[in-house]
Amino acid sequence: MTTEKAVTREWFDEVMVPCYNPMEMIPVKGEGARVWDQQGNEYIDFAGGIAVSCLGHCHPAMVNAVTEQANKIWHLSNVMTNEPALRLAKKLTEVSFAERVFFANSGAEANEAALKLARRWAADVHGTEKSEIIAFNQGFHGRTFFTVTVGGQAAYSDGFGPKPGDVSHIPYNDIAALEAQMSEKTCAVMMEPLQGEGGIVSPQPEFVQAVRELCDKYNALLIFDEVQTGNGRTGHFYAYQGLGVTPDILSTAKSLGGGFPIGAMLTTEKLAAHMKVGTHGSTYGGNPLACAVAEAVVDVVSSPDVLAGVEEREAWFREGLQKINDKYGIFSEIRGKGLLLGAALNEEWQGRARDVLVAAGQQGLMVLVAGANVVRFTPSLVITKQEVEQGLAKLDKAISTLVAA
Ligand SMILES: *Cc1c(COP(=O)(O)O)cnc(C)c1O
Repeated sequence: MTTEKAVTREWFDEVMVPCYNPMEMIPVKGEGARVWDQQGNEYIDFAGGIAVSCLGHCHPAMVNAVTEQANKIWHLSNVMTNEPALRLAKKLTEVSFAERVFFANSGAEANEAALKLARRWAADVHGTEKSEIIAFNQGFHGRTFFTVTVGGQAAYSDGFGPKPGDVSHIPYNDIAALEAQMSEKTCAVMMEPLQGEGGIVSPQPEFVQAVRELCDKYNALLIFDEVQTGNGRTGHFYAYQGLGVTPDILSTAKSLGGGFPIGAMLTTEKLAAHMKVGTHGSTYGGNPLACAVAEAVVDVVSSPDVLAGVEEREAWFREGLQKINDKYGIFSEIRGKGLLLGAALNEEWQGRARDVLVAAGQQGLMVLVAGANVVRFTPSLVITKQEVEQGLAKLDKAISTLVAA
């Protein structure tokens, strides 16, 4: 029986669709911002999945929530509703502009719902010619065919046949380009309020203001993809709250479940009314188990202590990364907000972000990349000072080996 043999990394190449290239080690246990692999090697986790494990691994609030709910009821169809989903939806309306919530299972699905709502609203209210979706180069919105088409990297959407139509892309932070592109035919503008996958690129405040104003001018909806920025990541519960601009639709996932799959689309009562019975749906969306965990996550993350703690931790990271850079001079800039940070490599180190990731792994540190030139850090929002210091020491060592090589 194969199940009785020791599981090894080789199995991946034997039985998995090869659309990933996982590291050699296989983690088997996590606690807080620490992870252990099959051989018992310890790692400090500055990745948190990919901005998912916002309370670290196996946080007691999440373990309690999942255990308690697992002993009650796991699943119901949307033929009926359930208590965790209703409680979570209420909480999400309390911590954001939203008045209505649609549950999905991932970020891509939350975005798919957002885009379908925007198109349906436009068709209902303005007619079917109002269908243009404007999005941004280097943006990322997920891997369904609609969301990957709206995402700003053609390499991810090419080669699958005809794409969903009427999607335009312009440069991020370029007000003039947006002004030139927008018209009464624009249905929605979709953007990340800080580009994650695209390299940790913050929006300029004037740009976000202009996007909102142009959407209002042309009766277009503003969709914020907060799948990566949401749930406390930037020090606000949602990043829009720190930008002085409110979207019409917001998608959230990743940290919402803290490690349990869930996504949600948040919107206003008025827009939600365009989704009638049967317009959209999901078998697992609003699953009681997922919603119970997310409820616990939202309770902890929305506390003022945790949100203020994100800013404090950002300072620890910035100081530590600056010190490393004073020694080795490999970064051109430390950027991002809260605990969505990027260390951009300078001219000499272009294309070597993955080398840093691999070298860090060898020292027992998990980090991420955002493109070829940015090392990305998205740790637990409650990571301890000691864990940050130990992780930064490992990063220092990893970079010293690269510099020496
Ligand atoms: C990760 C991500 C997605 C996709 O989320 P999935 O859960 O992988 O579908 C969408 N948008 C942004 C901004 C993301 O970072």
